[in-house]
Amino acid sequence: MTDTRVRFAPSPTGYLHIGGLRTALYDYLFARATGGKFILRIEDTDRNRLVEDATDKLIQSLLRMGIELDEGPGIGGDYGPYIQSERLKLYHREAQRLVESGHAYYCFCSSQTLAEMREQQQQNGEFVKYDRRCSHLSPEVVKEKLASGESHVLRLRMPDERKFRFNDLIRGDVEMDSSQSDDQVIIKSDGFPTYHLAAVVDDHYMKISHVIRGEEWLSSTPKHIWLYECLGWDAPLWVHLPLILNTDRSKLSKRMNDVSVDSYLEKGYLKEALINFIALLGWHSADDREIYSLDELCDVFSLDRVSKAGAVFDLTKLDWMNGQYLRQMDLDHLIDRAMPFFESKGYSLDHSDRSRLMLSTARERSTLLPELVEYCEMFLKNSKLEGSDLETINAESSQAVLKSLLRSFDAIDPKDVDELNSIISQIQIELSVKGKLLYTPIRLALIRQAHGPDIFSIYAILGREEALKRLQSSIN
Ligand code: GLU
Repeated sequence: MTDTRVRFAPSPTGYLHIGGLRTALYDYLFARATGGKFILRIEDTDRNRLVEDATDKLIQSLLRMGIELDEGPGIGGDYGPYIQSERLKLYHREAQRLVESGHAYYCFCSSQTLAEMREQQQQNGEFVKYDRRCSHLSPEVVKEKLASGESHVLRLRMPDERKFRFNDLIRGDVEMDSSQSDDQVIIKSDGFPTYHLAAVVDDHYMKISHVIRGEEWLSSTPKHIWLYECLGWDAPLWVHLPLILNTDRSKLSKRMNDVSVDSYLEKGYLKEALINFIALLGWHSADDREIYSLDELCDVFSLDRVSKAGAVFDLTKLDWMNGQYLRQMDLDHLIDRAMPFFESKGYSLDHSDRSRLMLSTARERSTLLPELVEYCEMFLKNSKLEGSDLETINAESSQAVLKSLLRSFDAIDPKDVDELNSIISQIQIELSVKGKLLYTPIRLALIRQAHGPDIFSIYAILGREEALKRLQSSIN
């Protein structure tokens, strides 16, 4: 069996989005599961859509998610360069072979000519495609036009009547008709190849065994198969991943800012949860287990468990999954992940027992990292009471509870929660108050809100000094 070699081949037109991450992840998992290689190739032949820094950002995003590259730009490998704009000679050489074998021809039609042609065909109710007028030019005329520097493209002559049959590892046998295929431009007037030629040439020379890509490329596959035939090469195996859908089953938009992978991390999703969630967008395990680490996925992933039905991107499920990871993650790791979110709000977070206790309390009630900060604010800032809370704490019975608590602090100064517990029991007996009347004023004094964790956790998190300060300031 030949070695598995798969590639993720994004165009550097922006950030890594959810669909791109899913393709990269499936490529990576398949490579790891089969002991093969995962390659990154940058498809930058559409010069109008280039975005500066996009390649670096893409690589950073992949690495940030834990997806390591075996070959690619900046990493190297035996089949580079891995950026298409650095491989132009190769595409021209192969394009020339296609011209010589009669599979490709020069086209000198201006965009105006093409527009008129399109309009005419539309008026006649015909299928819009290039009418091949330039394919009838004599070799002498072509030579002359080329010599005079006339602007031109190269087109691939598609077969007229041909059923393309191929096997897709996810979809099974696929059949497509060539009669609707246009004579595809393979070299543009700027001298750059189009995606179709460049991808086929690179997949061949990079010894790609499986082309794994989104379903939107399925309709291009006949063109690619035809290119392989014309160039005399064996085609790789085809794997078209299911579409990713919104919950209303419309196609998840690539342009929606919201779906960049980095924006999810910035919103406070954990990369582990995101990876786990994305892995399940089309793939599921034999036992329908849902929680998998990246390493575990590398062991169990297989293409035969990828479905061809569209996969719904359900944010509620991602939230649920993030909550699971938040609660199960090693606490010190969680503190490291949460730290930037605390710092961005002007709070500091460390690995002290108090911070650890605070986070372990907060994570039981949070879904995203910023929610940890929100939850912890009751410990981190001493806000002013207003409205009904202010009324409650100023009530006579509340003040009696707080004064009594303060007196006990002066007398005993509780070092731990057990001592605090006995003090509160004493107050309960002394003032014969219990339940809400006892605990609400204490909570309002200590955390400035009527609801929150139990008093003993609050006390342990605040520490004696801070608790005392807050208590004192709550007494009129
Ligand atoms: N450059 C294409 C893209 O942007 C790659 C398609 C393929 O994997 O063949 O998605």
